[in-house]
Amino acid sequence: MTDRYAVIGHPIAHSKSPWIHARFAQETGQDIAYEALLGRLDAFEEDVRQFQAQGGLGLNVTLPFKEQAFAMAHERSPRAEVARAANALRFHQGRIWAENFDGVGLVHDVQHNLGFALEGKRILVLGAGGASRGIVAPLLQCRPCELVVANRTPARADELVRDMAHLGPLAACTWQALRGPFDAIFNATSASLGAALPPLAPGLLQAHGLAYDLMYGKGRTAFLQWAADTTPEARRADGAGMLVEQAAESFAWWRGIRPPTAAVLQALRTPGL
Ligand code: NAP
Repeated sequence: MTDRYAVIGHPIAHSKSPWIHARFAQETGQDIAYEALLGRLDAFEEDVRQFQAQGGLGLNVTLPFKEQAFAMAHERSPRAEVARAANALRFHQGRIWAENFDGVGLVHDVQHNLGFALEGKRILVLGAGGASRGIVAPLLQCRPCELVVANRTPARADELVRDMAHLGPLAACTWQALRGPFDAIFNATSASLGAALPPLAPGLLQAHGLAYDLMYGKGRTAFLQWAADTTPEARRADGAGMLVEQAAESFAWWRGIRPPTAAVLQALRTPGL
């Protein structure tokens, strides 16, 4: 019988995950079906349990359910514990296991696909929402010399730093007090959705640094445009690689085999960002 997996979110129609996992299955010869599920905002847990009861083996979880997925799990990986959010679930012997691959996906994309080493670097993360919570700990594991978090609502950045300061050299900062240059800036705000830009001064990004927008599929976002205007020598990337690499980690966790990602990523990366 074909093993069933899905991604659950709200909205979900735009998700590229079914296409990505179908390609992974093809390339690794795994017999799986992977669909997109529109989770109900007021009945997420019920939707998950129904999928599990129907024989589903695993779910990817996206906005706005990552915290709820974490909360309902019986077993949680250290990565999910640190993020207090899950982007992947596995069902086994009636129990629910939670993982969070967003951060390792990002780090894999930056260090392996883009060839940008993070050790010893000065890093800025914009935003303190779910995505930031998922990426800060894996970024700290790359041993940067400093990681600064800045958020529109400063109290959320303060809270994130309080929760994770024991993991490495981490500090919170207001937009106004930011002092560059940073070697890499990760935009983990959802500002790009509305074509908005956090108030960033010129000179924040090192020449030949990296500007990375976690958002994907939106072309050159306002943040990437800011980087192109103020630091044209810097490299720019969107979150397509992070998406593909977290998918590969989920696939490996469920199936015991890590699929090759280069061809899938090539199809999803927007050229000329
Ligand atoms: P979230 O939990 O809703 O957090 C949103 C963050 O954006 C908050 O820090 C919020 O600040 C900030 N923000 C929203 N509008 C803003 C604006 N106009 N100006 C400045 N800051 C603003 O969302 P999330 O789950 O962290 O997702 C953030 C982004 O990451 C989204 O674009 C999402 O698509 C992307 N993402 C990508 C991947 C991938 O695989 N590539 C994975 C996960 C997430 P306040 O605290 O002040 O509200």
